Amino acid sequence: MLKNGRSYPLHLGVTEAGDGEDGRIKSAVGIGALLEDGLGDTIRVSLTEEPEFEIPVARKLAEKFNGNNRFELPQLEGELPYNPFAYERRHSTEIHNIGGKHVPVVVADFSQKTQISPANFFGFGYNYSVQLDKWNLQDLAADYVYIGSNTIDFEVPGTLGVICDFENWKTNYATKSGFYPILSISDLDKIDVSQIAFLNLKAEEAIPSNLSDFKNLTIVVETDYANKTQLFRNFFIQLARLNYAHPVILRFNSQESDSETFQLNVSSDAGSLLIDGFGDGVWIAGNQAPTFINSTAFGILQATRTRISKTEYISCPSCGRTLFDLQETTAKIRERTSHLKGIKIGIMGCIVNGPGEMADADYGYVGTGPGKIHLYKEKTVVRKNVAESEAVDALIDLIKEHGDWVEVKTT
Ligand code: SF4
Repeated sequence: MLKNGRSYPLHLGVTEAGDGEDGRIKSAVGIGALLEDGLGDTIRVSLTEEPEFEIPVARKLAEKFNGNNRFELPQLEGELPYNPFAYERRHSTEIHNIGGKHVPVVVADFSQKTQISPANFFGFGYNYSVQLDKWNLQDLAADYVYIGSNTIDFEVPGTLGVICDFENWKTNYATKSGFYPILSISDLDKIDVSQIAFLNLKAEEAIPSNLSDFKNLTIVVETDYANKTQLFRNFFIQLARLNYAHPVILRFNSQESDSETFQLNVSSDAGSLLIDGFGDGVWIAGNQAPTFINSTAFGILQATRTRISKTEYISCPSCGRTLFDLQETTAKIRERTSHLKGIKIGIMGCIVNGPGEMADADYGYVGTGPGKIHLYKEKTVVRKNVAESEAVDALIDLIKEHGDWVEVKTT
């Protein structure tokens, strides 16, 4: 458009975003990625919910871009060290389970707590069984926990890494496996260059020139400025120019009290970077409930397809053509299939647009006439005109026939 001198207003929307948290996160990631760069004049949030629930979400998402507190970056000189028109994950070195080919990690933040008990881990996907004296991990179990200056007087799950403030680490955990310090720039000369550690950096500040000596550092980048997308992106460009391949965790700290706004804002900020291949982890801090923060972090990774940890539903927003109760059916299908990690199920109200809009779903449930459903395996119809009363069972049978079914784990 720029080349051709056209300046038409641009309308943005994510169709078939789904409902609830998934629909909101997917919309914020998709629409937000363009709004973050100043593109888009009108938006529509399209949820599988009553239409009146869509407007407040759209307003909150748009509101994010009315703020100021923006950091003015100097004009970028020279060639970009990445292709903004194709997805390619930034190359980073592997440090334990971070970076390289590992999926982005999730860091839980316990720094605001004054005391940490096993019950605190519940919100981040870990259940402690007193009877069996063991930890059970859920699909949405965080990979690291930041404890700040707190101490932990019980054994944490073996798969979990613990990040502590440098002084706390030196005093209590320097010899304990799985415990790592988080440093500021001034701490760098106090550790051995081979120490596995995390380094806090501000996206708007200069990157230290001696980082190549520290091969086991993971950078945690954050900023208090509103234009996080530009600042973080610029930070990755500077890292590439310095030939630094340290893994980078994106940290967001929001004190927003409205939970929906909190989720939309963080999803828009993190999503725009992850879909460009930037980020080896997500660390969200804020004043929301731990379970909510944790599911937001995993939801963002799922929506950006950088880490799949649950079943994905692609359902249409419904309209006059819808041939069944879409919300009720989506809820029924979710109830039976939400444990099928990595499977994508399309639930579409009509045959007119449904099949085309299911995108890359593995299975499809599409209304074809009153009380009649077609079932799809990818883009092919495999069961025609199934009675609606039997269609959910038939969908489960189809998933079983193709070997994608697993029984629900009971632990
Ligand atoms: S019922 Fe059909 S046309 Fe209407 S929103 Fe759903 S897929 Fe689109």
